[in-house]
Amino acid sequence: MSAWLAVLVHTPAHASLGPVLTYRHREVLPAGTLVRVPLGARETLGVVWDPANDEASGEIDPSKVRDISEVLDTVGPLAGAWQQLARFAARYYQRSAGEVALAALPPQLRELSSLQLQRKALRLHKAQGLQPVAGKTSRAKTPPPENASPAQAPMQSKALSAEQAEALTQMEAHSGPFLLFGATGSGKTEVYLQAVEQLLAREPQAQALVMVPEINLTPQLEARFVERFAPQWGPQAVVSLHSGMTPAQRLSAWLAAHQGGARIVLGTRMAVFASMPGLRLIVVDEEHDPSYKSGEGARYSARDLAVYRGRLEGAKVVLGSATPSLESWFHSRPVAEGGRYLRLHMPSRIGAVGRSLPLVRRVDMTHQARNTVVSLPLLAAIKERIARSEQSLVFLNRRGYAPVLHCSDCGWKSACGHCSAFRVFHKNDRTLRCHHCGHSERVPRTCPGCGNPDILTLGRGTEQIEELLTALLADVRRPGSQSPAQPEGEPVRIGRIDADTTRLKGALQSQLAAVHAGEVDVLVGTQMIAKGHDFRRITLVAAINPDSALFSSDFRAPERLFSLLLQAAGRAGRDAAMGAQSEVWVQTFQPAHPVYAALKNYDYPSFAHSQLQEREQAGMPPFSYQALVRADARSQEAAQAFLNAARKRASSDMAHWPGWGQVLEQVMLYPAVPMSMQRVANVERAQMLVESTSRHALQSFLAAWQEVLQASRSDPACKGLIRWAIDVDPLSI
Ligand code: ADP
Ligand code: ZN
Ligand code: ZN
Repeated sequence: MSAWLAVLVHTPAHASLGPVLTYRHREVLPAGTLVRVPLGARETLGVVWDPANDEASGEIDPSKVRDISEVLDTVGPLAGAWQQLARFAARYYQRSAGEVALAALPPQLRELSSLQLQRKALRLHKAQGLQPVAGKTSRAKTPPPENASPAQAPMQSKALSAEQAEALTQMEAHSGPFLLFGATGSGKTEVYLQAVEQLLAREPQAQALVMVPEINLTPQLEARFVERFAPQWGPQAVVSLHSGMTPAQRLSAWLAAHQGGARIVLGTRMAVFASMPGLRLIVVDEEHDPSYKSGEGARYSARDLAVYRGRLEGAKVVLGSATPSLESWFHSRPVAEGGRYLRLHMPSRIGAVGRSLPLVRRVDMTHQARNTVVSLPLLAAIKERIARSEQSLVFLNRRGYAPVLHCSDCGWKSACGHCSAFRVFHKNDRTLRCHHCGHSERVPRTCPGCGNPDILTLGRGTEQIEELLTALLADVRRPGSQSPAQPEGEPVRIGRIDADTTRLKGALQSQLAAVHAGEVDVLVGTQMIAKGHDFRRITLVAAINPDSALFSSDFRAPERLFSLLLQAAGRAGRDAAMGAQSEVWVQTFQPAHPVYAALKNYDYPSFAHSQLQEREQAGMPPFSYQALVRADARSQEAAQAFLNAARKRASSDMAHWPGWGQVLEQVMLYPAVPMSMQRVANVERAQMLVESTSRHALQSFLAAWQEVLQASRSDPACKGLIRWAIDVDPLSI
């Protein structure tokens, strides 16, 4: 007797092959079981799938049905809720379930045999010692320990501030989702920690998922969670999941979560798909951060999926931010106005005396000499910090020395030959580098256009700011640094942290350690340093040239700028003792701009209010729903022709489908346009915006339109089309 089973495999998006294939096995296996199956000439990882939910492809020819090669039964099946999460994500983001589900599993699962996995799982159980194991979905071959209660050791939780206590009380009393709107340094992380503590005290088998936007922030957070939970729950109770881990580490962490041994999973957006049979709490820290949106494959929003998953599994969801996304802010309006999230407010910084947040100063650059980079008052303020042995953080969102080289004789500019972008001048290694395709070459000695030896730089990057500050502070000495060797004292130390200085593994950590150890007086960097880091001695944060975001065509640019500046401000004066003398400096040509005015007052609510009003008038999200279709082609014409053909078919063909008139009426398709970065690595890119005031209509339309898009490929005008993809709820337009 043998059974036919539906198995989900990773097939390329839009492949004619359906994602659910049929295989034979000697017995029926529960949905969610991991298997290895033959696919063409190779073997691939698959998940036994409930065939009722996804169509298998076409008629099945019994003579072609192949056998499942191996059942990975040492790893318990994926829970029904997990399968549903993958299914939903695939449907919502218009990808195949196979792609989403298989990409969400650790890559090493694809390689190890059942026996190897078993050994690994056993090692994990041993390592976890006393830890409770195995939710009911796990079929791991070790028996669950009899006593699942934690070892006895006191936890080091802090006495909560009144605001923190109130937030926690609300989180206990309601089902959420919650928007924890807390100033930077208001103790949000402490609230997460204690929410997890309370959960585990009540329900020792429960699991919590805590997400952060960036890998760089995980070690710090991990340290805090380990410190808090390891004494009672063992060192294995906290695991991380992010793309910076080795495949073996990822598999171990994944298994620990899947088998229920890990109490807490910390991770980046990929962690939203962690298999956690006991999931009861999901925290999304810095929920506004664009990194929660995936930029490739299924372009999912881990924040939005977290909310979905919480509802699906009955887990509480806490979204935390000092500058929430306007979407989450809108969803947390009062219930009477239709709000769905409960907003919890923590406006005060922990330990704040008097003025709690750094003073914001705007430097009006129209009053400074032309081409001033670091204004005189800012320079004076930095010198003051140095004299007091405090640190300053100077940031500019542009790495390299200068974004463009040019020749004033013939007009030559350092354009990239493969992209619609300029190559950036890096002085350190004297290269011209394209930040989009990576193309790099040595800086020419003379102008490639006319031979002029005087090539000039245009604009400034972090390398140049570092060089400039070194020159401006050349005669300043570190206080108390006089020694027989250097009787006048040591020069000021200037550090730089950006993608260029942190390319090597561990480089960022050691550079951050140097900052924490006080070895750096002035830290120059990109937004990389503006986020999250708990710097203790920084009392001045300066944005050198933030204005460019004000002129962006992207309607989310002001929101992002506000949030970045406020995050950056959060780096200053984190040590309560230094809070009073902390300042944030913004150099701007538009000091009266509403973004800066709101920043000065730390008034996110009024900023959000005015932004939401603008969005409502313009019919922008969250008052409408959007999707982008992007097309890559050999020529811009082909990319646009493809999109426009699919658009035309929507109104010609689809309009005749029974019942579709109504859906189409609610969906607006804009004409195809070149993307703002039109060409990257010799590929031409175009996009088309699809918009609707009904999420449901947009979703139905997109699902049906896939077929139309697929058919449009064969239009003769689309020759040269390379690929296309749909981005639902795009973050940049
Ligand atoms: P946020 O995540 O909101 O930026 P944190 O949770 O990191 O804030 O808290 C900021 C600092 O205040 C941290 O050093 C933290 O240890 C400390 N802290 C938080 N809550 C308390 C508390 N209740 N009592 C004392 N210190 C606290
Ligand atoms: Zn020239
Ligand atoms: Zn390029």
